[in-house]
Amino acid sequence: MIVPLLTGLILMPPEPPIVTRAEWGAKAHLAGAIPHTITRLTIHHTGVLSNKSRSLEDKLRGLQLFSQREDKLANGKTKPVWIDVPYHYYISIDGRIGEGREWFFAGDTNTEYDPTGHLLIVVEGEFGQEQPTEAELKSLTDLTTYCCWRWRLDSTKIESHMDYSKQTDCPGKALYAFLPTLRAQVKQVLGH
Ligand SMILES: [Zn+2]
Repeated sequence: MIVPLLTGLILMPPEPPIVTRAEWGAKAHLAGAIPHTITRLTIHHTGVLSNKSRSLEDKLRGLQLFSQREDKLANGKTKPVWIDVPYHYYISIDGRIGEGREWFFAGDTNTEYDPTGHLLIVVEGEFGQEQPTEAELKSLTDLTTYCCWRWRLDSTKIESHMDYSKQTDCPGKALYAFLPTLRAQVKQVLGH
C-alpha cells in the first residue's frame, strides 16, 4: 500500500501582485546601502491620513524624493539623506502593494531602533485616527504570509515599530490591534 507523504507539506503561498520599482519609476538608491539578512518582519503606518486621490505610484515617487534629501520633520527634527525609501513594501489605501527599498538592504528610521534584519512593511494611513481598509488588511495578510514563507520567519517574528521603539506610536492603535489576527492567519497557513 502506498501512503501519500503529505503530512507537514507546506505549499508555497502565492506572491501577491506587487508594483515593481521599475513600474513606479524609482530612481536608483544612493551610495551607502547596508546589506542585511532578514530575521524578522516589522509593520508600520505612514502616520499621515490616507489619500484616495493619488496613485500608489505617485505616492512612492513622492516618498522617494522626500527620503533621498535632507528634510525637516513635523516635530522640528532634521531627517538626514537616506539612500532610498525607508520601507521594503508599501501598501496603499486601495490595497495595492508597491516594492520599496530592495529587501537585501537594511531600512531606515527616525527613531532609536536599529532596522538591520527587519523586513519593513508600511501601510498607508494614520491608524491612531482612522481604520485600515479591508483591502489594506487583505494585502497585508497576503504579503506577510508570503514574506514569512520566503524568509522562513516564524509568525512570532511579526511585530510592529512600537514593539522596538519607545519614541513612536506607529503603527497606530487600530492597526496594532490587528497584529494578533495577522499572526494567527500566518500560522494557520504556514504551520509556525
Ligand atoms: Zn513606523
